[in-house]
Amino acid sequence: EAKRRGGSSYHWYSSDLDAGMQSQVELRTQLQEAIQQQQFELFYQPIVDGAGHPVGVEALVRWKHPQRGYISPGDFIPLAEATGQIIAIADWVFEQACKDTPTLLAAGIESVSINFSPLQFYRDDLLENIEHALQRYGVKPQALVVEITENVFMRDSQHMIQMLHRLRKLGLSIAIDDFGTGFASLSYLNQLPVDSLKIDQSFIRGIEQARRNSAIARGVLTIAQELGVKTIAEGVETEAERDYLIQHNCSQMQGFLFCRPQPLAATLQWLQEQQIKI
Ligand code: C2E
Ligand code: MG
Ligand code: MG
Ligand code: MG
Repeated sequence: EAKRRGGSSYHWYSSDLDAGMQSQVELRTQLQEAIQQQQFELFYQPIVDGAGHPVGVEALVRWKHPQRGYISPGDFIPLAEATGQIIAIADWVFEQACKDTPTLLAAGIESVSINFSPLQFYRDDLLENIEHALQRYGVKPQALVVEITENVFMRDSQHMIQMLHRLRKLGLSIAIDDFGTGFASLSYLNQLPVDSLKIDQSFIRGIEQARRNSAIARGVLTIAQELGVKTIAEGVETEAERDYLIQHNCSQMQGFLFCRPQPLAATLQWLQEQQIKI
């Protein structure tokens, strides 16, 4: 590229690009430190049924940066996936979620959902690691849900389908996250051992009045019903969205309307308050 531009090759390295590349390298170095020093924390967001009762929680990782405070996963997971650092982060996430699961279950829920990255499915020791962590913390596999996005089926769908069958055989449940936003063909659903579909929040927004969104959401609800899998609506923010979803037989919901993602202690407190309400 620089060569083709001949004499003006210097201009190609604009200060903008330079700064961008530098901060990526910097971020990568800082992320390495974060992994070594375990600067991560799991937040939890409740998942509720149609009556508003909590049935589960989803673990959402945060990077507790020494200078910048909490950094959201959207700002470091993509880089971690590109560099392979996601593997070490995923190990920490899984371990921590297993550690927290007994107290969370004791607060009255049935399951803890954990987000998985595609790269994790290419480790030879994935199942072994999972089994060991479950044993270490006395967690039964039925308590855990593995969340994956449909894009994982774009690369090597046969390998992925095989891995999911193995996880299911171990006793874990499988949820397809951000359903409807990926580019995978729907035909993979036939071959998949899937327990639930999570309808992406972009389809939930204003669902009671936005025709296109409600058409897509209702389509997903119908597919799920026919396949006999649960549906979880993500990002429910208003009572109108909630009421519409209940009317259309969406089994579970998650969103700021019910509870924001919070640290473990605050989540436990929220769960206990809900039990008193029943
Ligand atoms: P996700 O798994 O789809 O998680 C849902 C995201 O929606 C979370 O963002 C959550 O805070 C946000 N959310 C929940 N309710 C509402 C709502 O009512 N309104 C709005 N506007 N947003 C809501 P978060 O925590 O920033 O996580 C973003 C994504 O990062 C997650 O999307 C997930 O794909 C990924 N992620 C989080 N933790 C992990 C992890 O441990 N491993 C991996 N591989 N990915 C993770
Ligand atoms: Mg998720
Ligand atoms: Mg999602
Ligand atoms: Mg998402």
